[in-house]
Amino acid sequence: MIVRPTLAQLEAGIVAGDRALLARAITLIESTRPADQAAARELLERVLPRSGSALRVGITGVPGVGKSTFIEALGKRLTARGTKVAVLAVDPSSTRSGGAILGDKTRMHELARDPLAFVRPSPSRGSLGGVARRTREVMLLCEAAGYEVVLVETVGVGQSETMVAGMVDFFLVLMLANAGDELQGIKRGILELADMVVINKADGDHVQAAREARVEYARALHLMPQKSPSWTPPVLTCSGLRDEGVAEIWAAIEDYRARLDASGEWQTQRAGQRVDAMWRSIEWGLIEAFRGDPELRERVAALEQQVRAGTLAPDHAAHELLERFHPHR
Ligand code: GDP
Repeated sequence: MIVRPTLAQLEAGIVAGDRALLARAITLIESTRPADQAAARELLERVLPRSGSALRVGITGVPGVGKSTFIEALGKRLTARGTKVAVLAVDPSSTRSGGAILGDKTRMHELARDPLAFVRPSPSRGSLGGVARRTREVMLLCEAAGYEVVLVETVGVGQSETMVAGMVDFFLVLMLANAGDELQGIKRGILELADMVVINKADGDHVQAAREARVEYARALHLMPQKSPSWTPPVLTCSGLRDEGVAEIWAAIEDYRARLDASGEWQTQRAGQRVDAMWRSIEWGLIEAFRGDPELRERVAALEQQVRAGTLAPDHAAHELLERFHPHR
């Protein structure tokens, strides 16, 4: 029989760095049951004072670019010097189809076995918004459990990378050489979010192409609006597979932290992210309350049908429903 741990047990377990209890706490956070959500909020409130000190790094790139190989190499380097590392995943593919692009527990097996690491596979259901919403909270739990670096992995699909970029301190974009078309436009958006671009798989026959891509991306980045006066996003090359260039990447990330800390931007960015998180939570809360309002249900169905038939303007329908919506009354 599985005994449900109490909130006090979860809190004590997290504080003690117990990975099994941390995993239980994350399951609680990810639960959609209202009672669990209330408990999760209380747990978060209790551990919140212990969170906030980790370096939060988002890592993105198309499937196959080498994210898990890179994270394994980086993670092992960090744990080798005694740093506790947590790895989380935001996978937009797991939201509806059930098929995960980012795979599951089988990835990063060496890191997953490392006592200083915590590798959390991507949640298997829920809307992308829901998943990203939990990810921020899961990150806070990991910090309370003493993880000093949190790596949040995501794929370059849809909105997931924008969401992840909005909850981390540093956003790293992995690219491949010989992907010249990407520069023509589709990847422009992601370059704007990047604090660093890394040309991965710079090994074997790809070394020269990686060097060329590096120059090309540096030129492209140069044309982007600068995110911070204290930081110009560099373009580096690396081989996650051979663990080459990984140490240099981490050194640059630490340099970034030192610079933004000194200029005050670090704190300003965190503060802005907290306010953004509050507003996103309000948006989700309102939508949930609206969809769950029993008094609106029939009217919503009726108006939706008229909108579908083209006999009522969407805006009109929305206006009427919002007028009828009176939560907490
Ligand atoms: P992900 O889908 O982005 O997580 O990519 P994976 O880490 O699973 O790697 C995809 C494939 O690329 C695997 O076959 C890896 O062995 C290979 N790979 C990953 N990193 C490197 C690298 O640095 N160099 C080379 N040559 N291959 C790599």
